[in-house]
Amino acid sequence: MGMAETTPAIETRNVIKSFGSVRAIDDVSLTVESGIFLTLLGPSGCGKSTLLRSIAGFSPVTSGTIMVGGRDVTHQPPHLRPVNMVFQDYALFPHMSVRRNIGFGCEMKAMPKPEIEKRVDAMLDLIRLPAVGHREPGELSGGQRQRVALARALAPDPVSLLLDEPLGALDLKLRIELQHELKSIQRSTGKTFVFVTHDQDEAMSMSDLVAVMKDGRIEQLDTPQAIYARPATAFVAGFVGAANLIPARLAQLDADNALITVEGRDWQVPASRITTSHMPSAGDAITLMIRPEDVALGQAPEGALTLTGKVADQTFLGGRIHMGCETAGGTKIMIETRPGGMPDADGAIDFHFRPDAVAILSHSEKA
Ligand code: ATP
Repeated sequence: MGMAETTPAIETRNVIKSFGSVRAIDDVSLTVESGIFLTLLGPSGCGKSTLLRSIAGFSPVTSGTIMVGGRDVTHQPPHLRPVNMVFQDYALFPHMSVRRNIGFGCEMKAMPKPEIEKRVDAMLDLIRLPAVGHREPGELSGGQRQRVALARALAPDPVSLLLDEPLGALDLKLRIELQHELKSIQRSTGKTFVFVTHDQDEAMSMSDLVAVMKDGRIEQLDTPQAIYARPATAFVAGFVGAANLIPARLAQLDADNALITVEGRDWQVPASRITTSHMPSAGDAITLMIRPEDVALGQAPEGALTLTGKVADQTFLGGRIHMGCETAGGTKIMIETRPGGMPDADGAIDFHFRPDAVAILSHSEKA
């Protein structure tokens, strides 16, 4: 075990959780460093909630180990684990005052009463609701209730807070407001947050790190910026934004450059743009990923990668225009650009992009 400050808040080691023949968690080893805002992001059914519930102890694992604050809690019941969960539906006690709701976890830990009162006051300040302590949850708005739920989870000072789509029940405006508030509370308390959402914008805007999940596995764990710019798989590329996927072949590869054949053209792309964890070899079929906003129209500058095609449809979005195109080779390309550089009357169009905007994905990874 390392020094106290380097002990990860949470570690899962080879965790498997089966429900009958379904592997909801399929061998997940995840280390969450202390003080981090980590988001588990993925489509419905990918296992995010199950992973969170396993860490909390509500869903006993089939095999593997769960560590919290450097301690093995795999076989401990939820109330003995130094984590607290926040749910979408608040789960506040309806006939208890806000103060008692917030102090409840501390009461359960048999903390001295003056200490509990002090913590409740601090929590009410933290959630910027100092005046609602004597109300019952039914006398609060949805956003206020979720703030109280957060305060209740934080009051006993857990190692980590586990948040399962806590903003899912709120309307968009409130949701965005609480995203900022949640992030700022995480920063000011320095607590480790593990947050579950299926909303990529929410994940990207709030998190220090995002773990993109699919079929019970973590496909990629990285910063939001890296996940967007350097997706490890076509699935990740498409889940965190719009992604054009172009079938191609790797002709040659050296330390600096990849020579790639696309629709009969030879492209040179920096080898550093191989973002997949599985290194492809010369001759392999690969997939190139390019974001719609990185595709440009018109005269290509020196060194740009170029394709020709036809415009299938276009949508004006005020300051931007969205075009659906098809290349001569039949690949669909989405382009997001500023108005201007219109196609010819027959819809023929030349487009190009910078070699360093492309991500090279190995073909073995399906979209
Ligand atoms: P959502 O966003 O819809 O909540 P999720 O990513 O959180 O999805 P989980 O709820 O963790 O996904 O479910 C993962 C898989 O495990 C799914 O196939 C689900 O049907 C299955 N599963 C979850 N809980 C149970 C259970 N109690 N019994 C049987 N199968 C379950």
